[in-house]
Amino acid sequence: MGKALRLSEKWFRRGLWLVALVFAGFLIGLGGTIVGDLPKVEAPLRVDDFLDRTAAQALRSQVKEAHQAEQDAQAALEQARLQRAKARSENQAERETFNNWLAARQATQRAEHDPEVIARTQALDALKGRERQAQQAVEAQEQALLDARQGAQAAQQQLDALERGGYEKLAAAQRTVELRVFLYRLALTLPLLVAAGWLFAKKRQGTWWPFVWGFIFFALFAFFVELVPYLPSYGGYVRYVVGIVVTALVGRYAIVALNGYLERQKQAEALPDQERRKELSYDVALARLAKSVCPGCERPVDLKNDQIDYCPHCGIGLFDRCGHCSTRKSAFARFCHACGTQAA
Ligand SMILES: [Zn+2]
Ligand SMILES: [Zn+2]
Repeated sequence: MGKALRLSEKWFRRGLWLVALVFAGFLIGLGGTIVGDLPKVEAPLRVDDFLDRTAAQALRSQVKEAHQAEQDAQAALEQARLQRAKARSENQAERETFNNWLAARQATQRAEHDPEVIARTQALDALKGRERQAQQAVEAQEQALLDARQGAQAAQQQLDALERGGYEKLAAAQRTVELRVFLYRLALTLPLLVAAGWLFAKKRQGTWWPFVWGFIFFALFAFFVELVPYLPSYGGYVRYVVGIVVTALVGRYAIVALNGYLERQKQAEALPDQERRKELSYDVALARLAKSVCPGCERPVDLKNDQIDYCPHCGIGLFDRCGHCSTRKSAFARFCHACGTQAA
């Protein structure tokens, strides 16, 4: 493919590489869209799918009710505490005034005040009784709050135990779904890679090579890049194992090709000069001469030295003389550069 010598042909080839890249780009876009749309095949899973639903529902409403009761008890407790504080301070204030009054009375020793002492003592007792009632109300609310809190905790624990089993089952089911989704994608991309390998081996130099290369780029990208976000935890193994297999196949192919080339070259070098010349295409010969290598054996030759007419490595003729004007010219040239006579 890199042997084109005509200027337009070179540019056509560059354009065709561009076609290959653009073709690959569109294929990659299409492939990415298809690969991305694949999970829609699966319905999303929820933990409720793996629970005893009626039991879970009952426990959840139990937890909710217990929390509500807890809140109510908390509010009532705050009210009761406020009432108790009020009763306490009333009692205290009353006791203080009574004590002062009592001290004053003892000083005066007035007997007509005795019924009032009794009345005020009774009033104080009543206040004390109210304070005690308020204290009892507070204790009752504290008990109710504790009951509600413990009830909520117990229900929550039961619910947690139930849900734990559900989450385990959910995780297992999700792993299965993940694997299935990954396998769909693998089933889509792996055949592409196989097809690309076949095209590389058989068709990469055919007439339609830009499309072949475009497809090869697409298949490699789809497998080694687009598949990556969908790999399950062990998906790396799949990718690396396939990568190793592909590299081994390409490497084996290159080694076999190298040995085949060396074998062909050896056979070609054993043929007579005239036959070897026939097998070399004009453009290939010119391209090799331009790189200062022998067109027959591809080893370096000093072409500027006008004493060298034959390759010192394989013996192929590099320069000869024109049959008409005897000018020294390249043996691969079709026409004499001095007189224009066609070479024999
Ligand atoms: Zn040679
Ligand atoms: Zn000539």
